[in-house]
Amino acid sequence: MFTSAKQAQLFEEASKHIPGGVNSPVRAFKGVGGTPVFIKRAKGAYLWDEDDNQYIDYVGSWGPMILGHSHPDIVKAVQQAAEDGLSYGAPTVAETTLADVICEILPSIDLIRMTNSGTEATMTAIRLARGYTGRDKIIKFEGCYHGHSDSLLVKAGSALLTLGEPTSKGVPEDFAKHTIVLPYNDIEALEKCFEKFGQEIAGVIVEPVAGNMNLVIPKEGFLQAIRRVCDQYKAVFIIDEVMTGFRVALGGAHTLYNVEPDLITLGKIIGAGLPVGAFGGKREMMQCIAPLGGVYQAGTLSGNPLAMRAGLAMFKHIRQDGFYAKLEAQLAKLLAGLQSAADEAGVAFKTQQVGAMFGLYFTDQEDLSSFEAMLKCDSEAFKQFFHGMLNRGVYLAPSAFEAGFISSMHSDKDIEKTIAAAKATFVEMKNGSLG
Ligand SMILES: *Cc1c(COP(=O)(O)O)cnc(C)c1O
Repeated sequence: MFTSAKQAQLFEEASKHIPGGVNSPVRAFKGVGGTPVFIKRAKGAYLWDEDDNQYIDYVGSWGPMILGHSHPDIVKAVQQAAEDGLSYGAPTVAETTLADVICEILPSIDLIRMTNSGTEATMTAIRLARGYTGRDKIIKFEGCYHGHSDSLLVKAGSALLTLGEPTSKGVPEDFAKHTIVLPYNDIEALEKCFEKFGQEIAGVIVEPVAGNMNLVIPKEGFLQAIRRVCDQYKAVFIIDEVMTGFRVALGGAHTLYNVEPDLITLGKIIGAGLPVGAFGGKREMMQCIAPLGGVYQAGTLSGNPLAMRAGLAMFKHIRQDGFYAKLEAQLAKLLAGLQSAADEAGVAFKTQQVGAMFGLYFTDQEDLSSFEAMLKCDSEAFKQFFHGMLNRGVYLAPSAFEAGFISSMHSDKDIEKTIAAAKATFVEMKNGSLG
């Protein structure tokens, strides 16, 4: 792995006053080794680092940049919004328009509230589920990430159907015990859990396509089973589409898999790269939110005019006919090319795609539908692949447990270049000359 003197110095300087040198842990390259690349600017499908190296970007700021970086229409919208003032803390028409647009695309949402991050959206959706039902327990699934609020930084206890344990210091066990963690895609565990705790369960939160443990696709019937038990026990079904919303399809994953949630959380793409989140859903539940109801939620910068107007400009593009079909076809080409490059080199490798997001797996396992299967993938091979690609100008997520993203700016040439980089990297891995 290669780190330039300049990058090493920048990281050292950053680490002086910023914990670990980063403002979000995954950026620190702990999952792949080495020091993070400091980015100077970005345009279209590319990033440039502080040494002026160019990279084809498959992180897209962890999802939002579906139109590529610095899209001229978005930049213009933000510039114009800035001229009109950065924040007022009072209602604006742009908020109404963005709410209208989202409710039109996602008919499951009657009312929607904007936040500043996905974390705030999921945290509040859970508070709402608890406030609405008057119950305390929440079910989440192993390997799913829903932001960093206390109730959601919880993993499974040592035995099945035991109550959760905190995954972070500072989360009181008294909080964690209200969160039950079940295996993803395990309908039987879900049903058993509801049989045991059904009357205490406020809601279930799920990533409809899991993108924070690499990429795991919901098994047929899994999301429907959640709907069924939530109906039976009058619990709230929260679909966390912060990553998948407007990413796997215009209508998000719940329309793709034909399931109707009670509440939906959004983020990432809706702000086109500005800090934003949102939660919305059924009127009778959303009416419990202040000022209409007794579940409190607020934000000084919520519905920020720059974020709203950036989002509105972005929706104009993604709503165009054929937008997602083209993205999907482009990504399918990339993944087919990566697969044949791996096969040629004799590297155990698999890929999966849902819409405009993908997973890469260094494994020969057939079944990739569980968190356990993700843990069994070869993380050393991923590290080698990551650095081989980085050195060849391809920027992948610096962790084997993150999904990848493509943008509408990734051209045929970018795809070909990426495949060529992968060919060389796979051969190098096979010859053991990396690492
Ligand atoms: C990114 C993400 C979040 C958290 O959003 P932030 O804006 O980082 O707080 C929540 N849920 C899912 C599924 C995510 O991918």
